[in-house]
Amino acid sequence: MKRLNFTLDESTVELLSDLSEKFYDGNKSQTVRAALESLAAREGHGGWVVAGYTPLRIDHAVSCHTCGLEQLEGNVLFKPVFERGNSPEAIQQIPSEEWVECSVCVESH
Ligand SMILES: [Zn+2]
Repeated sequence: MKRLNFTLDESTVELLSDLSEKFYDGNKSQTVRAALESLAAREGHGGWVVAGYTPLRIDHAVSCHTCGLEQLEGNVLFKPVFERGNSPEAIQQIPSEEWVECSVCVESH
């Protein structure tokens, strides 16, 4: 458990009070947690996110996952490393097909 401090405007404070009274016996921490879980579920943000990339010299021609440009054998491309997380870009399943990105696309992420 960790204690957090944050600032809310008056109407948000009222909303938090109302909701916590109505649904969680006045427990504001539980209310905030439920609100966050509901947001994550509704937005579909929970899933796999790209945590980083590992460089990879390709031994066959392949297209960049993002821009689609064909990359020739011997080029160095980047393979995403996935981890569980929340992000607007989170995906529900790690694709089974080959996923590599060119350096231009990796830099613009
Ligand atoms: Zn690309």
